[in-house]
Amino acid sequence: MQTSYDHMTIYAVSTPPGRGGIGVVRISGGDTLPILRALFHRDAFAPRTMVYGKVFDATGRLLDEAMAVYFPAPHSYTGEDVAEIHGHGNPTILSAIMDAIGTLCKNARPADNGEFTKRAFLNGKMDLTEAEAVMEVISARSMSAVDASLRQLGGEVGTAISAIRSDLMDATAGLEAAIDYPEEEWEDEAVTAAVALLKSAQSRIEALGLSYERGRLVKEGIGCTMVGAPNAGKSSLLNAIAGFPRAIVDDTPGTTRDVLEYPFTYMGQLIRLYDTAGRRDVKTGAEAIGLQMGEAAVHESDIIILVLDGAEPLTAEDYAAARLCMGKPTVIAYNKVDLGRSLTRGELYRLGLDAPVVEISAKEGEGVEELLFTILTLSGLADGVEDTLITSARQRDCLMRAKDALGRAIDAHTAGVPFDLVSQDAMDALSALYSLTGEDPRADVIDTIFKKFCVGK
Ligand code: GDP
Repeated sequence: MQTSYDHMTIYAVSTPPGRGGIGVVRISGGDTLPILRALFHRDAFAPRTMVYGKVFDATGRLLDEAMAVYFPAPHSYTGEDVAEIHGHGNPTILSAIMDAIGTLCKNARPADNGEFTKRAFLNGKMDLTEAEAVMEVISARSMSAVDASLRQLGGEVGTAISAIRSDLMDATAGLEAAIDYPEEEWEDEAVTAAVALLKSAQSRIEALGLSYERGRLVKEGIGCTMVGAPNAGKSSLLNAIAGFPRAIVDDTPGTTRDVLEYPFTYMGQLIRLYDTAGRRDVKTGAEAIGLQMGEAAVHESDIIILVLDGAEPLTAEDYAAARLCMGKPTVIAYNKVDLGRSLTRGELYRLGLDAPVVEISAKEGEGVEELLFTILTLSGLADGVEDTLITSARQRDCLMRAKDALGRAIDAHTAGVPFDLVSQDAMDALSALYSLTGEDPRADVIDTIFKKFCVGK
């Protein structure tokens, strides 16, 4: 393996900084058992069994009363000897234990970011998609993100990729045989079968690559921006969703002067809702800045909610707000139905948007549930997520490289290019898939991934 692995024993505090009931120091490497013995003044540590003891530094000073568990290699997180010391969650104590380890063992050093998981990967305990999933499980902000990352941690992406890889290997073997034995009568059949495998692999890779868009929404949340004329009811809608007065509601137009963010979960899915400043022709002052920020929020959003005052005829401001929604998945919130419905279907049609319309009363909380469900539907997440999702841009890029290489292979075959060139493109696709799971990795890719982890993971 090309990436760095110095075989020293590493150690780090694995629980978050701050005070708590317990704090855990994790150790991994060949000197784990001698370190435990020296810290606890005891010889025997039965595998995978919690023991209670007193922890001492090199001078014999008592540092803590703690529990320790020892996992001998290879049945551990990293594949090396590992121990966890569960002490009191006091940063002073935990750093004293860290210092004691450094003093007691010359072959030990503090771990770098993500180094435990990196060693797990380098020792074959997990592939690269699973290692990335560890970070995603830790950072997931909604249950649907937890589900997706746990499925990836369970090897779902790796399994899908290895099935495709095995078909690609069969295809290249077929092509190679046709190159080596060109006169054999089975040649045409073998090549036809190989090309069929290339095509099926290409469409599976494409589907997996396309799942990235939904995977990103699951992971980061659906960015949803409300736009509309001043007084249409955006702040009231935000408050109705929040269930408390998050935004100022005022019947003086232009009361919302910056972009408010309200993240919440609906049906297990994170939605990040933004309330923009009402669109008005104001060129200066705080409100103008708010307007610019609003347009930026619209640009970066996944879904736009166009809030209209259904009790009034459309205004130039409504048309201007609708123009902001062009080309973006949009839902129209037809607000203030408690005051009657004066906006007609014909007028809505003239806005020129192909968007579902949900009738609501932000004031009375009516229709809000349907509006949220429509947002999930527009995002493709209303039915939950059953299929395998890609959540990392790195994985998506590897899939795109593989798909492009297969496209070249198939085109080359159609154009009658010699089999060895077709086979070379198929091999390029294979190598992109190997780098996805980390079996053919370049050291820089690996290091970039693990740098994103924090220490102790
Ligand atoms: P914004 O400028 O788009 O954020 O609009 P606001 O939420 O500040 O609302 C403007 C005015 O419309 C306030 O007086 C609200 O009480 C009123 N309003 C908002 N939604 C409704 C609604 O559903 N029904 C009624 N009757 N009034 C509403």
